[in-house]
Amino acid sequence: MKREYAVIGLGRFGGSICRELSAEGMDVLAVDIHEDKVKEFRNIAAYAVIADTTDEDVLKELGIRNIDHVIVAIGDDIQASILTTLMLKELGVKKITAKAQNDYHEKVLNKIGADHVVHPERDMGKRIAHQIISTNILDHLELSDDHSIVEVRVGKKMHGRSLLDLDIRARFGCNVVAIKEVQDRKVNVSPQASQQLEKGDILIVIGADQDISRFEKQLVVE
Ligand code: ATP
Repeated sequence: MKREYAVIGLGRFGGSICRELSAEGMDVLAVDIHEDKVKEFRNIAAYAVIADTTDEDVLKELGIRNIDHVIVAIGDDIQASILTTLMLKELGVKKITAKAQNDYHEKVLNKIGADHVVHPERDMGKRIAHQIISTNILDHLELSDDHSIVEVRVGKKMHGRSLLDLDIRARFGCNVVAIKEVQDRKVNVSPQASQQLEKGDILIVIGADQDISRFEKQLVVE
């Protein structure tokens, strides 16, 4: 069965989620308090509605409790974001993702039961900072406050050496979960310790941030 989504707040963040979900063929209900925003999404989303989502009756009229996943992308008006999230929770919406504007906002959203809180500016800043440190650090994805997954190109110190030889798990406490072999265009998930790393290969590494940081400094950054 096709899943249904609602995106509340059609700024740059919510608008982008709405466009992407719609492009992927999902049924999206796009909601914003401003008519001009809603007009912009009439030809993009399955449904586009002008509504103030801080009004409980309005949320009920929208039939929001039947929607599988609601994304609250209201930013500047923190009070509206919190109130909307709280009422969605009370109405029994199964899954709520909410955008936080700052750390306090994030704390409150978590407290009132948002299933997933995102902080796009901060998260993107972190990812870009890691890419700036070295051209070999391709991506950085936060799993929790202190664990991440990183995508790194093998540095010169790793060329022609095996995972066993480099002993990454014992030396740094992080795990190589996959190797993208660029030349052969294949992804080797859970690679053998004997696998030799070649120039251009990309490693997907999971671990605690402090362990990944030691690994990056010693073997990745050149
Ligand atoms: P972005 O950075 O994603 O552009 P932002 O963080 O600046 O957005 P806002 O522009 O404050 O966030 O909010 C996003 C959208 O949410 C706006 O289009 C705004 O009209 C809408 N919005 C604000 N309050 C409500 C509300 N009570 N009900 C529905 N939509 C709302």
